[in-house]
Amino acid sequence: MNLDELKALEKAARQLEPSPNQREGWNRAVHAYSHAFLDSLQERNAYDAPAVEDGLFAVYPEEGRPMEELLAQLEQWVDRQGINPASGRHLGYVPGGGVYATALGDYLAAATNRYAGINFASPGAVKMENELIRWMCRLAGFPPNSLGNLTSGGSIANLIAITTARDALGVRAERVSKSVIYLTRQVHHCVQKALRIAGLAEAPIRYIDMDRQFRIRPDALEQQIRTDRAAGLTPFLLVASAGTTDTGAIDPLQDLAAIARAEGMWYHVDAAYGGFFLLSEKLRPLLQGIAQADSIVMDPHKGLFLSYGIGAVLIKDIKAQYRSYHYQANYMQDAALESGEPSPADLSPELTKHFRGLRMWLPLQLLGARPFKAAIEEKALLCRYFFHRAQEMGFETGPEPALSIMIFRHPGSEQLPAEQANPALIRKIWEDGQFFLSSTQIGGEYWIRLAVLSFRTHLQEIEALLLKLQQLCKELGLPIAQEKR
Ligand SMILES: *Cc1c(COP(=O)(O)O)cnc(C)c1O
Repeated sequence: MNLDELKALEKAARQLEPSPNQREGWNRAVHAYSHAFLDSLQERNAYDAPAVEDGLFAVYPEEGRPMEELLAQLEQWVDRQGINPASGRHLGYVPGGGVYATALGDYLAAATNRYAGINFASPGAVKMENELIRWMCRLAGFPPNSLGNLTSGGSIANLIAITTARDALGVRAERVSKSVIYLTRQVHHCVQKALRIAGLAEAPIRYIDMDRQFRIRPDALEQQIRTDRAAGLTPFLLVASAGTTDTGAIDPLQDLAAIARAEGMWYHVDAAYGGFFLLSEKLRPLLQGIAQADSIVMDPHKGLFLSYGIGAVLIKDIKAQYRSYHYQANYMQDAALESGEPSPADLSPELTKHFRGLRMWLPLQLLGARPFKAAIEEKALLCRYFFHRAQEMGFETGPEPALSIMIFRHPGSEQLPAEQANPALIRKIWEDGQFFLSSTQIGGEYWIRLAVLSFRTHLQEIEALLLKLQQLCKELGLPIAQEKR
């Protein structure tokens, strides 16, 4: 065998391993880029109109290109367009985080590339992830033998909970059409999406009436259950929200727990947005009853201010989750011999996966819990502050915010009625770009949402937003009340 070919291939392949010098150079350039980005956040917009050129990222050259050139493309074509979730003036949808140490956790996880899916392959990584899940279980008041999974986000976390519920209650194909699911119109759309993916699209879905604060009405739920029972149907799944996306409303978790238990239903609480308000001793009572859920979703990339890419599902009966997700394959026989920590691969659809625990563990350990607790409480207070100031300025508001999301709108003027004034105001906010806010429809009416959850949003940003709203309303000819202060 002629080894020349092999040697030529090796020479080219070895370029996959940069020399220490090359590594150093890349690191320097990437560091400089991320520092420049973070240091310029004050000047950067929260929203820039998109201007992507077709084909820009479609070039895959035979020979590599210099890092500086690539970073310049990143800056121009990614980091200067659309929503800027790193900005403290991002107050739309549910703002993401981006606590810096998340990036370092990702960097280390990728550089060392531990295999975090299987306990046999990396007992340390699996232990770390499971302990993080147990920390969240304790936060929610779940018993010590509960577990769950670190997911890519809240959507997959909800999907895991729903499939586990389906299998735990034995809702097989022939029973789907008789197994009733209860939720409200304010539930996050990823729940309906998960129901469809989980093969539950044909299950009867009941949207229960809400009170004026957009919380599920337990009496209406009980009434519906009686009707369903009388029709020979079986209540199967109750989905509550602990912090809805539209208004941050928290369903009456305790009352719902009692109903779910009495009816033998699986009780799922989607706390993707609201879960980490449990960190605040002051706000924790708002989520009273969450400990009685069978499964909970919370999103560390929301309320724990981490960068996008980490959600969590917590499941009380870990055996139920295991029954839904474990699988045996011949080539996995070595892993099957292990004992001890349950493997993420047996508790989720994933096998090979990102070691995402490190991006959560590192910030929590580096900074301690205190700044996270302070920040989450600060966000709730900031939202309440805006709520009162907006009312003083003559805006209509929805319910007083329970957490850190609220809705408001301008009542409009004779020339510009509310249904036109508020979309116009949103467009102006986006054109201006300094702030990003989003809108929603509630009961057929257009509302502007304020969602305070960026760890970079402080009093200064909220004051500046109030001034900005004043200015933009003036430009639209919309009256603003003189504040009594
Ligand atoms: C954000 C959110 C989700 C979806 O989570 P992702 O992390 O975006 O997949 C689900 N439920 C609620 C209440 C949310 O706020």
